Amino acid sequence: MGLNKKSVDDINVKGLRVLCRCDFNVPLKDGKITDENRLVAALPTIKKLIADGGKVILCSHLGKPKGEPKPELSLAPVAARLSELLGQEVKFAADDEVVGENAKAAVAAMNDGDVILLQNTRYRKEETKNGEEFSKELASLCDVFVNDAFGTAHRAHCSNVGVAELAPVAVVGYLMQKEIDFLGNAVENPVRPFVAILGGAKVADKLNVINNLLEKCDTLIIGGGMAYTFLKAKGYEIGTSLVDNEKIEYCGEMIAKAEQLGKKLLLPVDTVVTDHFPDPIDDPEIATEVVAADAIPADKMGMDIGPKTRELYAEAAKSAKTVVWNGPMGVFENPVLAAGTKAVAQALADTDATTIIGGGDSAAAVNQMGFGPKMSHISTGGGASLEFLEGKELPGVAAANDK
Ligand code: ATP
Repeated sequence: MGLNKKSVDDINVKGLRVLCRCDFNVPLKDGKITDENRLVAALPTIKKLIADGGKVILCSHLGKPKGEPKPELSLAPVAARLSELLGQEVKFAADDEVVGENAKAAVAAMNDGDVILLQNTRYRKEETKNGEEFSKELASLCDVFVNDAFGTAHRAHCSNVGVAELAPVAVVGYLMQKEIDFLGNAVENPVRPFVAILGGAKVADKLNVINNLLEKCDTLIIGGGMAYTFLKAKGYEIGTSLVDNEKIEYCGEMIAKAEQLGKKLLLPVDTVVTDHFPDPIDDPEIATEVVAADAIPADKMGMDIGPKTRELYAEAAKSAKTVVWNGPMGVFENPVLAAGTKAVAQALADTDATTIIGGGDSAAAVNQMGFGPKMSHISTGGGASLEFLEGKELPGVAAANDK
């Protein structure tokens, strides 16, 4: 399943003003970028636009300034780091209103191949409401709009959807293309066996993902906090483990659906329990115990998959030709409770299968463990990749011109 949208390869931007929406929403600590994966992932498109002789105007949101200027969420550090990564100046147009005098003057003064970066688009309150005024201002800056921000593609905002509808030409960039190719092929056209691994805290966050993936995959593996609602649906005692009482019936339905479809649905067979949630979350002194999944004591909480489950899940992952993984297997922020998440990451690192990590916590975990280069694809978008796995159309993609 290819992406039926025009891309940067279908246009010639020589001498044109190109507004390129990137996802520069990177973690910052004391003004320093602590993970620059998203910047690196944006480089191929930016380099292509420079090489073609475009006047490259970059924009992005960063964090949640909630519609007003917040100096700690300025994109200035991103401009500085991008200048280093590109080996050429990325001029920062520091307007609190984003499209202000600085930006307009900088754009007017651009030569072919120059790059500027606008201020955080969420400094404007219209941004997240897809308000027309700000969309128009953004569109007035450009002849061509390029959307390469996969991480925001599940939102309809001014800087990815509003502007795309107003700009004379709107296409997608290489990162967007790559994300959709990997995720799309995995879901719609997987080399089988296709194993999907879901974890994370809440079942409710992933209802549609569970349902959609169950139809598409051969084996669905459930871990993390959401596994306990499934175990409860099987009638097990789950003690004080995380549970969503309103979704027990749903989990029961999914178990029945898997049987009906002849799919394997793997649930934990053993679990690591504690008698309280660690506080602080990374408390290395937390006492643990391993129990069978159907024998969780009434006063204990499940915090990670147990050793037998780790083996079971790793084996299942290794037998696959395509694996999609989203969500940690346990409270991986704690070193004592990270073994399940590590085991899955290791299994994916060891296999020759196409391995796709669906962003968010699982992507962070894989990178932290140094397995990043061993994965076929690590999505730059947690929420966007989840919505994609639900089978939803992403507004940020839909807004680009068709081929
Ligand atoms: P994102 O939406 O960013 O991709 P995610 O899907 O990877 O995130 P979340 O649903 O946000 O994951 O859940 C991750 C959180 O779930 C982690 O903070 C982890 O500590 C927590 N978690 C995992 N297992 C358990 C458990 N057994 N009990 C309680 N919390 C858990």
